[in-house]
Amino acid sequence: MSEIKTQLVVLGAGPGGYSAAFRAADMGIETVLVDARETLGGVCLNVGCIPSKALLHVAKVMKEAKHLASHGVSFGEPEIDLDKIRAYKDGVVGQLTKGLAGMSKMRKVKHVQGYGKFTGANTLEVEGKDGKTTISFENAIIAAGSEPVSLPFIPEDDRVIDSTGALEMKDIPEKMLVLGGGIIGLEMGTVYEALGSNIDVVEFLDQLIPAADKDIMKVFMKTYKEKFNIMLETKVTGVEAKDDGLYVSFEGKNAPAEPVRYDKVLVAVGRKPNGGLVAADKAGVKVDERGFISVDKQMKTNVGHIYAIGDLVGQPMLAHKAVHEGHVAAENIAGKKHFFDPRCIPSVAYTEPEVAWVGLTEKEAKEQGVSYETATFPWAASGRAIASDATDGMTKMIFDKDSGRVIGGAMIGTNAGEMLGEIGLAIEMGADAEDVALTIHAHPTLNESIGLASEIFEGSITDLP
Ligand code: FAD
Repeated sequence: MSEIKTQLVVLGAGPGGYSAAFRAADMGIETVLVDARETLGGVCLNVGCIPSKALLHVAKVMKEAKHLASHGVSFGEPEIDLDKIRAYKDGVVGQLTKGLAGMSKMRKVKHVQGYGKFTGANTLEVEGKDGKTTISFENAIIAAGSEPVSLPFIPEDDRVIDSTGALEMKDIPEKMLVLGGGIIGLEMGTVYEALGSNIDVVEFLDQLIPAADKDIMKVFMKTYKEKFNIMLETKVTGVEAKDDGLYVSFEGKNAPAEPVRYDKVLVAVGRKPNGGLVAADKAGVKVDERGFISVDKQMKTNVGHIYAIGDLVGQPMLAHKAVHEGHVAAENIAGKKHFFDPRCIPSVAYTEPEVAWVGLTEKEAKEQGVSYETATFPWAASGRAIASDATDGMTKMIFDKDSGRVIGGAMIGTNAGEMLGEIGLAIEMGADAEDVALTIHAHPTLNESIGLASEIFEGSITDLP
């Protein structure tokens, strides 16, 4: 048993945890970073954002290469070497986790590998591959993240996988069911479809990616109803594991009458917070029955010297939210008075087309009784989109009706996520439609659609594209 005394312990080395630890160390605080994994980066880097994007990159290039045949350039049928694809993905992850290890070392942040649990208000016990370590701390940041939700009525079987299993890419199933029409399921379905799987998607609600606006998802469906067999307003009622496959029964509007056989079922019905798994009660920290830990705007829990950040403090469960929360927690521990109070947090589905939104959606504006107006610019009218064969897209701006201020925006189309930052900045800066419309956007670009949508609101559209 070894013992460590430190000013700050950070439990969990995901984007929230490592960002908090690095910021704290940069401000001169002696910091220990604990994670059960051997590598830093948490879910996002090891089994989330990054490996999924590496695979989505492969999927996108494959689709584009295939599509080029209609423009006069053919590459022939793709030959898939799954070992090499996996190695590419693992290489991307490895490069980034190594980078984090280097940055941690440079800052003298001590990494303790092992599973940590509080044993008191100022002590944490970590059980790792090298034995037990007791850490006494002055301050702590809980950044233990979240894990996939599993469904109790689905049997334990190698062919039932979650996002982590899907990222392992053990094989390319001939027929796979994606259970849940949210971002993670659709991203993984996109990868497998490109590699040759037949994908069915079942979603209980009447829309995929339910948080996005209906008009945006209408554009999405145009492409995706060709790629996937989509069963909306339908639920899975049972899964029977047989030797020759998983037989899934459905109920609802688009339910098949008989059980359907699948080679694999990907369960992607959301993530649950890990707040209940760290013995927070031993430190006096309140955790709700779902596993969330409540914090104030300084990321402080009900115990003054213990902070919490990331997925386990609430929605949206996104890496960039965790990073900013981590910075706020570290800065408060260093004695600065900082608050987590963003006007908006962007969301992106890295499907093809990408779905991206920030600030209020139209749905939320309606629910909140906000007086708003929208302006949309279809990419079918964009010169760059036409030249790049990317007309399945749309830019939608949401303005406060009286002041003209930008209060939200959404984009669907290729690389939409890359362009969303401009709308986020406009919201944070309190920009109005005129500010955006008068900002000269390069022509021809896809992001000039943001300026053009704002001109539509201003009533001064030009015929530029
Ligand atoms: P996590 O990243 O969840 O890290 C928590 C860490 O704590 C883990 O490493 C875990 O091992 C460790 N831990 C937990 N309990 C203990 C304990 N008791 N002792 C020691 N260690 C412990 N978000 C985006 O913003 N963009 C994306 O494109 C995106 N894509 C995703 C794709 C997939 C497939 C998945 C699953 C998620 C994706 N996310 C994405 C979500 C993103 O991964 C999370 O929001 C983010 O990782 C949360 O960060 P975090 O710091 O709260 O904790």
